[in-house]
Amino acid sequence: MSRYSALSLLRNALSGHRHWPRAWRAPAPKPAYDIIIVGGGGHGLATAFYLAENHGIRNVAVIEKSYVGSGNVGRNTTIIRSNYLLDGNTQFYEFSMQLWEQLSRTLNFNVMFSQRGQIVTAHSADQLDAFSHRANVMRLNGIDADILSRDDVRRLVPYLNYSETARFPIHGAILQGRAGTARHDAVVWGYARAADAHGVDIIQNCEVTDFLWAGERITGVQTSQGPISAGRVGLAVAGHTSVLGHKAGLELPIESHVLQAFVTEPLKPLVDHVVAYGADHYYLSQSDKGGLVLGGSLDGYDSYAQRGNPGIVRDIAEAAVALMPCISRVRLLRHWGGVMDMTPDASPIICPTPIDGLYLNGGWCYGGFKATPASGWCFAHTLATGRSHPLNAAFGLDRFRTGGTLDEAGVGPFAWLQ
Ligand code: FAD
Repeated sequence: MSRYSALSLLRNALSGHRHWPRAWRAPAPKPAYDIIIVGGGGHGLATAFYLAENHGIRNVAVIEKSYVGSGNVGRNTTIIRSNYLLDGNTQFYEFSMQLWEQLSRTLNFNVMFSQRGQIVTAHSADQLDAFSHRANVMRLNGIDADILSRDDVRRLVPYLNYSETARFPIHGAILQGRAGTARHDAVVWGYARAADAHGVDIIQNCEVTDFLWAGERITGVQTSQGPISAGRVGLAVAGHTSVLGHKAGLELPIESHVLQAFVTEPLKPLVDHVVAYGADHYYLSQSDKGGLVLGGSLDGYDSYAQRGNPGIVRDIAEAAVALMPCISRVRLLRHWGGVMDMTPDASPIICPTPIDGLYLNGGWCYGGFKATPASGWCFAHTLATGRSHPLNAAFGLDRFRTGGTLDEAGVGPFAWLQ
């Protein structure tokens, strides 16, 4: 740290941050923009940034009903990986990984991307076989993957349950070494700051309540701060996609469900990797503060509540202790929920819609945090050109009509590969 920045840090600390400059402006909405993006989560902000950065389109507003980062992007367990099987998903998520690898530099903001590796344990010979299949496909696609024997796993993560009498003994694992985590708030702040620096207006506490129409074309949005016109409107509202879609007359193949996450009291450094339990839907990593960050299954019914219920708390506690008995006396500090857009094939939607002027980014299910950079990149392309980018060509709405679905529900964002 230079002497100048150390002094300025000290000055800000002693002055109660009074002179601390805003990271982004708080503009009043203009009457009209070239493009309006609804939703100030990771995807909306990334889209605004890449519209300006890649396409030179700067007359853009991001409209957020609460504060930026109040949705899923600030509530998720931050796992980033690209271990998909199907064409379409594979290329898209690997591109996202490559953008993550440069993101702190791109945004000039430390998003604390930590490629600590993701290990998914296998609990039968058949499961290890299935993992070998996946690892081979990944390698053929130029994506890193390793199959670990039981001894390899034990060497890397000695704190798991290796007892022969465990209900689901560990047989081995699959490892993606480049997978990891990032600091979710920093991702939001980094994209917001960089988009704002390009002239994008980030308008918080402004809810989009309806659309403006000229005949059959959408020409803007009605908001809690009044009407705002736009050449094109992009929805990036995660768990609320079907709500806004409905207002535009689109019936989408999406259900909204709650997904919970948990954090324990801080521990000394113990868990170096992201570890997912192949015998159940449960995974963990350790935050820089020391808390174990735990995740698992959906609550299993439609809801817009950002909180969860005790059944999942019990399931997570059971799986946590089964995989790692040494944490049986560690206390859970908090749990919370986010609202997931679940599609029938567990793959996302990024595309123009049948409605002129309206574009869609949603259906991220459990796995949209890792997609943030590629999603923003591809949605920006789609909004700027009116056409899908080759990387999101498989994520159209049409697939639900034609049967060309990308079904990775059993092996992708679901279960042991969160
Ligand atoms: P959000 O942050 O939800 O952004 C959408 C925004 O739209 C919100 O801020 C909301 O306020 C705003 N909005 C909604 N309606 C309106 C309106 N009418 N007007 C204006 N604004 C509106 N993904 C991973 O890749 N890895 C993980 O480990 C992972 N773990 C998860 C764990 C949990 C507990 C949860 C909840 C999610 C997890 N996810 C994970 C999924 C990931 O968080 C989401 O898929 C992703 O964040 C969704 O995109 P977003 O960031 O744009 O959404």
